[in-house]
Amino acid sequence: MRRLVIVSNRVALPGEGAQRSGGLVTGVVDALHHSGGLWFGWSGKLKSARSPPRLVEADGVTYATVDLTRADYDGYYSGLSNAALWPLFHYRLDLVNFTRQDFAAYLRVNALLADTLAPLLKPNDLVWVHDYHLIPMAEELRRVGAAQRIGFFLHTPFPSLGVLAALPHYLEILKSLCAYDLVGFQTIEDLTAFHDAIVRRAGGEVSADGRIHAFDHDLRSGVFPIGVDPDAIADMAARAVKSRTTRRLHESLQGRKLIIGVDRLDYSKGLEHRFKAFACFLEDYPEQRNHVRLLQNATATRSEVPEYCALRQRLGALAGDVAGRYARLDWAPIQYLNRSFSQHSLAGFFRISSVALVTPLRDGMNLVAKEYVAAQNPEDPGVLILSPFAGAAYELDAALIANPFDPGAVAEALQKALQMPIEERRERWRDMMEVLHRNNITAWRESFLGVLGSPI
Ligand code: ADP
Repeated sequence: MRRLVIVSNRVALPGEGAQRSGGLVTGVVDALHHSGGLWFGWSGKLKSARSPPRLVEADGVTYATVDLTRADYDGYYSGLSNAALWPLFHYRLDLVNFTRQDFAAYLRVNALLADTLAPLLKPNDLVWVHDYHLIPMAEELRRVGAAQRIGFFLHTPFPSLGVLAALPHYLEILKSLCAYDLVGFQTIEDLTAFHDAIVRRAGGEVSADGRIHAFDHDLRSGVFPIGVDPDAIADMAARAVKSRTTRRLHESLQGRKLIIGVDRLDYSKGLEHRFKAFACFLEDYPEQRNHVRLLQNATATRSEVPEYCALRQRLGALAGDVAGRYARLDWAPIQYLNRSFSQHSLAGFFRISSVALVTPLRDGMNLVAKEYVAAQNPEDPGVLILSPFAGAAYELDAALIANPFDPGAVAEALQKALQMPIEERRERWRDMMEVLHRNNITAWRESFLGVLGSPI
């Protein structure tokens, strides 16, 4: 068996993975624990000078981490990755903050990471690079002589050409992607957008099976929707409902129905739209007041990017506004928390929630949607309300699909979910579970690595 080498911006060291939120970490931890191998990336620490990589071994996995300087971090991570590529890939041109200095830092750090990784590679390794921070990695590894198979998976959406072309260096980004042997996306929409850009702007050729010839390279491309381990989540949720934390939450409801939202605090998640839609629901269906509670958990991330601080303030104000308008002496309509919970606690919360609101404005996949479904009690499953702009909507079409830009539609979906007969809830849930089993985390890993390792 070939050794698996995972390259991602941030490495979650042993014991750290469970606490860190993010779909990438969840998927990568699972892949490495399955097959062993090497995980290479940033340590999450800053250093004044460059130092050699730190190596840690645990449970068949080698963790190789490097520190970044403050200038690298500001330009590569906070700058180009999170203030330019992230908003661009999520269709938020209004939030793109691009500078040439940040782009130079992005290339410099990718080159530095490739220089550090190359000596750790063995000839037969399969190298799997993750996400938008590291698009130039294959080009940089080739520059220092790496001949291994190298694949790339984009966890975020890939934007359509009209949006992509706002990035001054988008042709370089396309060229960098074409230096891989395999490029994978979450949905057919992302893959199609990539093909379209290759054909229309790079003069490349794309065949029906996803083979691409562009920039003098041949590569393959495909759709590999990231999944979860539904059986493990179901077990965890069944145990978690008996835990003190979940019981406390359950008792606090006093018979009211719980509507849950769990997200990183990010503008792509549509939290402001969600709070406004919930207010619209309380307005349109006054009979539901005092019978429901929205629990919105939003863990703060990337707080060094100014837009995230501003969003946090706006959300706090909005939550207060909804509460102020509708709360009664013995009922608070909205419970808004910025802290992080363990996967175990979340699974318990999901299981006792009648409805999940997963309404991002754009999302590569959204694993919370899948985790919510997997955590349900088969006898009495809750209802998933899902945005059509989450990658998950391409698979979970048995959810109630509601457009987050239409508060009335989300309010209607909430009412429908709360009144849905048990037979319909079970049928929709069974359909979604079938998809979760078919496209689980193992299928994701095996299908991507299967194509990457197969003869060209
Ligand atoms: P993203 O990768 O954009 O954060 P996903 O929904 O794909 O979005 O993945 C989020 C992952 O992080 C899920 O596994 C989810 O359970 C976890 N997560 C999200 N918010 C929290 C939170 N507040 N506490 C703990 N885990 C969280």
